[in-house]
Amino acid sequence: MGGIGFVDFEKFSLACLAKQSWRLTSNPGSVWARVLKGLYFPHSNFWQATKSNHSSWIWQSLLARRNVTKEGTLYKIRDGGNVLIWEDPWIKSSPNFRVDRPANCPTNIIWVADLIDHNRLEWKRNLVRQVFSPNVAKSILQIPIAPRGCEDKLVSKYENSGTYSVRSGYRLLAKSSYADLVNRTMQSNHIPDKVWKYLWELSFLPTIKIFMWRDLLNAIPVNDSLSRRGIKVEPICPVCYQEVETIEHCLFWCSFARATWFSGPCAYKLDMIGFSSLLIIGGCL
Ligand SMILES: [Zn+2]
Repeated sequence: MGGIGFVDFEKFSLACLAKQSWRLTSNPGSVWARVLKGLYFPHSNFWQATKSNHSSWIWQSLLARRNVTKEGTLYKIRDGGNVLIWEDPWIKSSPNFRVDRPANCPTNIIWVADLIDHNRLEWKRNLVRQVFSPNVAKSILQIPIAPRGCEDKLVSKYENSGTYSVRSGYRLLAKSSYADLVNRTMQSNHIPDKVWKYLWELSFLPTIKIFMWRDLLNAIPVNDSLSRRGIKVEPICPVCYQEVETIEHCLFWCSFARATWFSGPCAYKLDMIGFSSLLIIGGCL
């Protein structure tokens, strides 16, 4: 947990426990995973499994932590045979890594494998472009494909190794808290007075303070806020094509933003938990 200046122990504990769910889903061939499957979800998968009256405490605990694991992971496509196009997370550039089924989509397009020409080992380019929006299609066509029999793999989005870690789980929970705080604030349309007071007393250039003021009001026209307001733009970041373009992504999380911070005079290496948003900083005052 190096680099974390403070720890919310409830979230830390939840992140630790979620690692067990990760082990279950990322290693379905293990004895432990096969026993649980036989007992609790013989005809479905872990994500679709439900709690019964006879569920053990361990099983109930795993289900309770499932969302933490699920929201931080996505499928790395190989042959596409185990990934549902419209239900599973597999497209990095889409919100929650998922895509909605268009109304005019053929009903026989269900699995990612349905989008692949397995003989030529390439995407069915015309079909992909026909079914998906241009940016999503572009993201899909960049995904490398493996031969039949190479199973799709669940990976963590937040670790380069692709393996879930307590740190990545904690990071996800921290971001969720941030989102909750933003939503509550925006719904009530109220920023605490001490945040405004702190902002206007900063000895920054007025231009920078105005920018921070607009950020706190969620008034920066990034693709995420534009699309939420009904403007027809793709929410994806047009620079890295990896995540939704929120103001936090633009300023802190985008790989290009982090490179910019690091290449500046201060060579600042962003800690994505401790310095995730202006509002969090304001809320800590
Ligand atoms: Zn980006």
